[in-house]
Amino acid sequence: MKTEKYYRPDIETMDRGELDSLVEERIRYTVDYAAKSSMFYKKWFRDNNIKPSDIKSHEDLLNLPIISGKTIRENQPPEINNFGFRSVDWKSIFTIHETSGTSGIPKSFFLTWEDWERYAEKYARSFVSQGFGPGDRVVICASYGMNVGANTMTLAARYIGMTIIPIGKCTFPPRVMESYRPTSIVGSVFKLIHLAKRMKEQGMEPSESSIERLVIGGEGFPEESREYVSELWGCDVFNTYGSTEGTMCGECSQIDGLHVPEDLVHLDVYDPHMKNFVKDGECGRIVLTTLLPVGAKCGTLLLNYDTEDTTVVKTSEKCACGRTHMKILNPQREAETFWIAETPFNRVDIEKGVFQRENMEYLTGEYEAFLYGGRDGEETTLRVSVECEDTGRCDRSIVEENFLRSFFRFKSGLEDAYIQGKLNVLFNYMGPGELELYKIKGRPKRIVDRR
Ligand SMILES: [Zn+2]
Repeated sequence: MKTEKYYRPDIETMDRGELDSLVEERIRYTVDYAAKSSMFYKKWFRDNNIKPSDIKSHEDLLNLPIISGKTIRENQPPEINNFGFRSVDWKSIFTIHETSGTSGIPKSFFLTWEDWERYAEKYARSFVSQGFGPGDRVVICASYGMNVGANTMTLAARYIGMTIIPIGKCTFPPRVMESYRPTSIVGSVFKLIHLAKRMKEQGMEPSESSIERLVIGGEGFPEESREYVSELWGCDVFNTYGSTEGTMCGECSQIDGLHVPEDLVHLDVYDPHMKNFVKDGECGRIVLTTLLPVGAKCGTLLLNYDTEDTTVVKTSEKCACGRTHMKILNPQREAETFWIAETPFNRVDIEKGVFQRENMEYLTGEYEAFLYGGRDGEETTLRVSVECEDTGRCDRSIVEENFLRSFFRFKSGLEDAYIQGKLNVLFNYMGPGELELYKIKGRPKRIVDRR
């Protein structure tokens, strides 16, 4: 039996009552700070005739507007001459970041050094909850660029005495494994699968390597992919969710939901109309509010920011690890949700179908899917292309059967459409390196809607 360690035991195991009062104190301070320091909120409170001091609690946040990436873009150059969400003077800003939007114009984010420290603390808590500590050597296989994730994890390592090997997003030569004997890697599902494969080709067995645990960051994935990575490497695989806006939630030793650092970021889950909070256990949109300790400052202040990700609050009860902060399910991107026959499905549902354990005897895990048709009553076609180790040695009926069983399991609307001939599902079997996504630079697009 391992004994649980905490990075900030006083905060992480704080009683629910005390934690809720701390959150409300910080909501009051943060709203007041916003009204005084952010051009956008200063104007908003004036125009809407709302007194910042009337916003006292979590429920009162329902009276404030929900902002999105679009609101941020409308309040920065080239739309206006200044940055409406910047909430500290220029000389207090330590770094400036941009998040690449799908719409072309990136959103700007400003971070003070204090913001960096708070971001890093969130990762430090999460690393410690996953069993990391002094002596760990961690390869960061995420990009060190305008995104804050890799840099913040590096700073977190300094807090807890770990060594970082900042590989970044470049390819990761297996010799790094032998030379430095890292105890962990932070990367994506697919990077971790590729690396395991390349090691095997060079006669190294991943499950016998120095790796003690793995961390997947920044993407939604089904349990099936985690289980496959865990089997390949013979170790636990933890999930973290982070964003430039400052979320940073992580799974603890229990691997049963991601703890939200409730004292540093306020996370609400809204209904599809964005009017009300949903109950715990129901799925909805993640809406974030920066939380500042009384007296603190921050570079970009967001109240009620729509992340366009969805999740479910799993529980606000105390976790078996001793932490009292609430746990959420692995978030999914709304932009990766598609509709057929009035039924939604996400990229994660496709990935789940691909990663059915029996399929992995034939497949590499790499896949892409395309949607066609569906106009004026014509049938919709979902074409799923999967990469095979060897197309000549792939039991296609097994792969198809497993995929469809998994895909339709909680989606009776899709199954009905399939039975009625309104949805056609086609499979393509490709050899290594033949998927279309390999021809496109940047983040691979797993589902392409061509309807
Ligand atoms: Zn826990």
